[in-house]
Amino acid sequence: MQHVLITGGAGFIGSHLADALVQQGHSVDVIDDLSTGSLDNIRHLLGRPGFRFWHDTLRHRAVTERCIARADVVFHLAAAVGVHLIVEQPVRTIETNVACTELVLELCARDQTPVLLASTSEVYGKSERRVFREDDDLVLGPTSRSRWCYASSKIIDEFLAKAYYVERGLPAVVARLFNTIGPRQTGRYGMVVPRFVDQALRNAPITVYGDGLQSRSFTWVGDVVGALVSLMQKPSAMGEVFNIGHSRTITILALAERVRRLCGSASPIRLVPYTDALGHGFEDMRWRLPDLSKVERLIGYRPSRDLDAMLVEIIDSRRGLIGRGAAVEVEATGPARRPHGSA
Ligand code: UDP
Repeated sequence: MQHVLITGGAGFIGSHLADALVQQGHSVDVIDDLSTGSLDNIRHLLGRPGFRFWHDTLRHRAVTERCIARADVVFHLAAAVGVHLIVEQPVRTIETNVACTELVLELCARDQTPVLLASTSEVYGKSERRVFREDDDLVLGPTSRSRWCYASSKIIDEFLAKAYYVERGLPAVVARLFNTIGPRQTGRYGMVVPRFVDQALRNAPITVYGDGLQSRSFTWVGDVVGALVSLMQKPSAMGEVFNIGHSRTITILALAERVRRLCGSASPIRLVPYTDALGHGFEDMRWRLPDLSKVERLIGYRPSRDLDAMLVEIIDSRRGLIGRGAAVEVEATGPARRPHGSA
């Protein structure tokens, strides 16, 4: 049994990771400021032996120091998430992603506590390669377009992790996650699958941005959690970067049709210009597909389910929540809500 710290552990992926680690008998601390995470994601863990929740921001150095001093292993998942939030709050994005990560790495380096840094497929930017490999060039847009501050901040995080590994011997591994989906993911901050599911379940228009021909590969949260845990058990993963994703893509328009069919919904599909949805000058990625050979070689990673199976489980879970009176999260075309909480 180990003592594990998950930063951002009340978020979508973090809470699933907490479930898995508690299930495996580890003692788990979660620190989360609940800015985009939610107590509902971890309520069932509160009071469980070995589980502890710190409602705080990583910027409170003394608290972060205490949490990391107790840990044998750290999963650093706390980050600004969601395209809507990133475009609306670039200062918060850069501060959270860079300053907090630097602090986590500095504190982990004191006792050489192994740390996993969650990065994102967003770092590949506008790369025109058909399949993205970890050692590919990263192609970003200009600084005048706020979307790129997210990728840039995560690239700095990756450089920091590598620098701590090389200069201070810190066992650090980077996981680039490709469009993770599953129950508990919220559509409030822009993520497409929960938004489409909520819209379809309400028979409201499904809002496809642009021409809908941009494509993504959607990854099951359980596969991501399994891969993160396995990577941390491999000494040879340290100092390395790994893609974690799915090997199949779908266009967003086809996704809208798929969600509508699986929900048995009468929703119309509405094409919304990017300018209306995300403001002037927004740039989207046309294509995003990971090369998974590196992570497959090291830990035998393979996506466990196809998109329909993932969508069915997400739809069932969302239906259950709505049935129990959960609030509707996504307006038909409206902007994302601002988060609450400290930072
Ligand atoms: N998207 C959409 N309608 C929405 C939300 C998102 O068409 O209501 C599109 C978005 O423009 C992007 C894709 O779905 O092309 C995936 O968006 P998401 O924010 O989930 O992830 P990312 O852009 O980071 O891949």
